[in-house]
Amino acid sequence: MSPPSVADLARATLLALAERQLPATPENYARVYAEMAGKPATASQQPLSHASSNIVAMVRQLVDRIIHRTASLSEELQARNADIRGTVDELGSAEEKELILRLAQAITEKADLIHLSVVQTQNELAATRSTLERMGCELSETRQSLLEDALTGAQNRRGMDALLMREVARVRRHGGRLTVAMIDIDHFKEVNDRFGHDAGDALLAHIGMVARSVLRESDALVRYGGEEFLLILPDADIQGAGFVVDRLREMIARSPLLYDQHPIAITFSCGIACLAEGENGHSLVLRADRALYDAKRAGRNCTHIAN
Ligand code: GH3
Ligand code: MG
Ligand code: MG
Repeated sequence: MSPPSVADLARATLLALAERQLPATPENYARVYAEMAGKPATASQQPLSHASSNIVAMVRQLVDRIIHRTASLSEELQARNADIRGTVDELGSAEEKELILRLAQAITEKADLIHLSVVQTQNELAATRSTLERMGCELSETRQSLLEDALTGAQNRRGMDALLMREVARVRRHGGRLTVAMIDIDHFKEVNDRFGHDAGDALLAHIGMVARSVLRESDALVRYGGEEFLLILPDADIQGAGFVVDRLREMIARSPLLYDQHPIAITFSCGIACLAEGENGHSLVLRADRALYDAKRAGRNCTHIAN
């Protein structure tokens, strides 16, 4: 026996929906159609971005209404077709009978075709939905990479601006503290000069990794400049920040980068500043930077606290 055609399946699906008194929504149609065709129903999709899901929801609603209307149109035409067949016997001429029956048949088939094309549109919509989802994922990855420094995986200056704005607003709204620590590697130029620029790059990536390992989930690491990093420490005071910086100093001293089997030992200087009342993020960072400059002038490999 040949397998049922798409038209047969669509018709059987509509009948099954009517028998089960289920509304002809795209989801119900797809589920029952899959059942009729002996296929597994498709898994539910991941949530879309807000704007995309609004658009898809609007189009789906529209297709839903069209499916509903064309389904009832096709049912009505089937019923009319049966009526016509019932009354056509009353007609005198055989040619007339034949003509009218062919006409009724053609109209029913056309209605089925319209309905099928609407169902196909719904399948295309499902494909559009997954394309939109993929695009949404790519977009959020791109957005993320715009805020990140590729070499160290730390936030870049753009990411820093957004983070500082958020944290300063949090302190203003709910109170609490915000402390930052500006770090600059000592004599980094010598590393480049002695071991080469690639070694310098590897060292920056290494420092980024070690720094992330000592930070808490709520802290952030920013690559502020070439060999300068900013630690953003929400809810830390000067003492807490000093503790984090000491731990980082210890970790870096204990785990120098091995480059071409040469250990590259470095130290860093640091300036710490805690957000003052009414201060903005920009001024906070400037104060930490000035304290860092004092640490450099004091002989490097030490931490200074901003006034
Ligand atoms: P100081 O102790 O005063 O901070 O001395 P320093 O040598 O660390 O500072 P200086 O500003 O003289 O030199 C910084 C060097 O960092 C110069 C620059 O070529 C290098 N640098 C900046 N960005 C990168 C980078 O992405 N990769 C590498 N390999 N080097 C970088
Ligand atoms: Mg520097
Ligand atoms: Mg330096």
